[in-house]
Amino acid sequence: MTHNSVEEGLARARELIRPHRRFVILEHEKPDGDCVGSSLAMALALDKWGKQALIVSDDPHPVIYDFLPGQEHFTRTGYLDLADFDADVAIFLDCGEPERCGRALPFAQKAKYWMNIDHHVSNTKFGDAVLVDPSAAATGEILWSMFRELELEIDVGIATCLYVAVLTDTGSFRYENTTPRVLRMAAHLIEKGARPQEISELVYEAKPLSSVMLLGEALKTLEIHDGGRIACVSVTREMMRKVAATSEDTEGIITYPRSIQGVVVAVQFREADEGVHVSFRTRRAVDASRIAEMFGGGGHPRAAGALIKGKTLPEVRTLVLEELHKFLERDSDPVIKA
Ligand code: 5GP
Ligand code: MN
Repeated sequence: MTHNSVEEGLARARELIRPHRRFVILEHEKPDGDCVGSSLAMALALDKWGKQALIVSDDPHPVIYDFLPGQEHFTRTGYLDLADFDADVAIFLDCGEPERCGRALPFAQKAKYWMNIDHHVSNTKFGDAVLVDPSAAATGEILWSMFRELELEIDVGIATCLYVAVLTDTGSFRYENTTPRVLRMAAHLIEKGARPQEISELVYEAKPLSSVMLLGEALKTLEIHDGGRIACVSVTREMMRKVAATSEDTEGIITYPRSIQGVVVAVQFREADEGVHVSFRTRRAVDASRIAEMFGGGGHPRAAGALIKGKTLPEVRTLVLEELHKFLERDSDPVIKA
């Protein structure tokens, strides 16, 4: 994002926030830590400015984030009557395009203005105030800059939400998006009261038993392809039923195939209601978002996904492995090809 567009986006955001009172916050489907932390921080900030803030999501928040403040602002689409709904401004968080908020979109369409705050490189720059910065590690990082520009006093609640946003989207400050700015932000949030040890324990070490049981089932399906460059796992409905897993229990499974020495692309196939969801995690110079785009999806350079409809999981696996093999031969650097 150029300096100009930062200033322009911020100026527009200021213009939209100041005179308006009723805000609706939209998250993407299956909200993750960045999404949940960002939307709660945004709602708490609007609260401090004396505004009404409602987060509307089609999916629930993963239970591991229940400890975060601001949940009283959260509601699900099924609990709201669209006919009676009204808002001045809709704020899309972490959504590359409006459709990413799924069945919550009609609620945004009732708002007069749209604000688009996101860090996806594929963001379509929709809306009336556009704060899109692909160099930000998390949407929460953009909010942190915005709050400081708007001279918001960051309290312990907002600090905790933003810390979760940046902690989860940087893989606990391990991924290549862990910049000096990210660590400065984390330091500032800790000064404002965020507690790193407690937060890490709540996010990473308070998992439901079913999620660890599901990991066990998924790892039994581990396959290695392409001379060790590709590792994949599958999660079927039958496995989920066997261990009474919820959809959020699939979170993090893909980090295991990705952690194997020599693997440059990890893939997870998951049977979903609407088709087979495929997740990609990559290493080195392999662009995961380009891989996901081949299947109609998108995402970030090292983490992306796509939903493939009308095929069974084994059919999707065959198709994706074939295309991935060709992709690695065609597009990756000589080190990866070797
Ligand atoms: P995950 O693999 O954890 O579901 O998603 C990783 C990233 O890929 C997400 O942050 C999101 O940006 C992107 N992503 C996942 N699924 C889809 C999808 O079906 N469509 C698009 N456009 N992006 C996706
Ligand atoms: Mn994000």
